[in-house]
Amino acid sequence: MIQRLLLASLILFACLPVGLSQKLKKADKVILQGLETHIRYLADDKLEGRRAGTPGEKLASDYITLEFMHAGLQPGAAGGWLQPFDINDGKQINRSGTRFEINGSELQLEKDYFPLAYSALRSVEGSPAIALQENGVPWFIDLKEALDSNQNNPHFDLEQEMQQRITESASHGATAVIFFNSSRTADNISFNPKDKSPVAPVPVLYVTAAARKKYLKDESASLEVKIKVDITEKKRTGHNVIGYLNNGAAATVILGAHYDHLGYGEDGNSMYRGPEKLIHNGADDNASGTAALIELAKLLEKNRSKNYNYLFIAFSGEELGLFGSKYYVDHPTVDLKQVDYMINMDMVGRLNDSTHVLTIGGYGTSPAWGPLLARPYPAGGFVLKYDSSGSGPSDHTSFYRKDIPVLFFFTGIHSDYHKPTDDYEKINYNGELAVVKYMYSLIQELASMNKLAFTRTRENTSGGSARFSVTLGIMPDYTFSGTGVRVDGVSDSRPAQKAGIKTGDVILQLGEYPVSSLDNYMQALGKFKKGDSAKLKYKRGTETAETQVQF
Ligand SMILES: [Zn+2]
Repeated sequence: MIQRLLLASLILFACLPVGLSQKLKKADKVILQGLETHIRYLADDKLEGRRAGTPGEKLASDYITLEFMHAGLQPGAAGGWLQPFDINDGKQINRSGTRFEINGSELQLEKDYFPLAYSALRSVEGSPAIALQENGVPWFIDLKEALDSNQNNPHFDLEQEMQQRITESASHGATAVIFFNSSRTADNISFNPKDKSPVAPVPVLYVTAAARKKYLKDESASLEVKIKVDITEKKRTGHNVIGYLNNGAAATVILGAHYDHLGYGEDGNSMYRGPEKLIHNGADDNASGTAALIELAKLLEKNRSKNYNYLFIAFSGEELGLFGSKYYVDHPTVDLKQVDYMINMDMVGRLNDSTHVLTIGGYGTSPAWGPLLARPYPAGGFVLKYDSSGSGPSDHTSFYRKDIPVLFFFTGIHSDYHKPTDDYEKINYNGELAVVKYMYSLIQELASMNKLAFTRTRENTSGGSARFSVTLGIMPDYTFSGTGVRVDGVSDSRPAQKAGIKTGDVILQLGEYPVSSLDNYMQALGKFKKGDSAKLKYKRGTETAETQVQF
């Protein structure tokens, strides 16, 4: 389950006790054993947290493939079981293409200097004096004054200051900008692989304190400077695992669960703040849903009702922002018009034995869900809580956005969420068995119903958490790798829609705050309060435009 969206609160508007039996039949014991085996394997340290595009993901996808095969499914992707997709992994310095020479000696990358992630990529030579800023040569800029004079200024943004200095310098003829810091104030400048700022007009380097003392001692001296910067985009490949149960029916049902997790937290989505590098096993998030998916595949293969085909998808890249499911709906292996509904299971392994709360999302995405979920389920036990929205913190959102009715099963948040302590021994296996049986009973009931109608719901939009007093009412596209925030959905009657923002627009600036990434979009939002009005700059296609938003 992804972190940012989870902050949006669930609206719970109904409770209903539903069944959960205590005594286990033989068939139930088989399911229970299956769940235990799958979760124990998928959440083993050997898989190193199943981070998308890593060897741990490969071990997990091998396991799921085998289980799908044993369940009697057919390969469901083009040419096999796996559907690969690209994940943009940020920027990296190309070492062989990056050089910095002063008076004939080459400085050491990282130890002495590094380019900033938004540096222009080219070679520059010149003979500047450190203290002189002249047309046609690289400029040296000391950050001392800016840092010292803003020490007690909580609004000071060094990054913004540097960007401004670069633009000014370039417009006055600087061919490169070389920053250094002669003050005692720490600047915490580093090469940020996740930076999405627009590329600077000139190459931009930062010289470390040690190298400054060695090479830039004499401010009046003229230096022979040679600069070359090369930065490339890093990519890794995630894989959805897809199995198909072809019953020769006209319509198909999609069942899904993501199997990727956080690895060691490299992507910055961990809640763990300790100093050690620890494996995030993700037993509940979402080995539990993956295990449920495998067990449902076995059950449905044995089932005799042939009214539907069933497509089982174990998604990857979910934790990075629904990458796998988004890729799937854009590259479907069945005609999405023939898909009647989608069920997503994410974090179904921590049913609370005292509250018995099971949350079901997507309740509002079809008028059929209400009567179906209101039916008493034999042998009481669950307390059902409903969330009407079709979009939420997991993969069903991608299908809802293609106008497919969805249901989302979730046993609730807990203190091990996105931490290295989400381990297999904390799973409530009997509780998960009950969830699997409940989902199975619903799927069986649905098999004899007519095609479900789709209804649009209120959106759980990002920025809906208590941290913000205002929101724009957009769903951001987490998979967008360009500069800005790409809009993946606009809520009705909210500020963005009223200002004319449409799906596909890329937000570039909010008020005076440039927006290059989701992070600084969130920061920018935090500066406004209800009643404020702000200029919003955005890109639609190749055109840049402006509008006024009223919060
Ligand atoms: Zn998660």
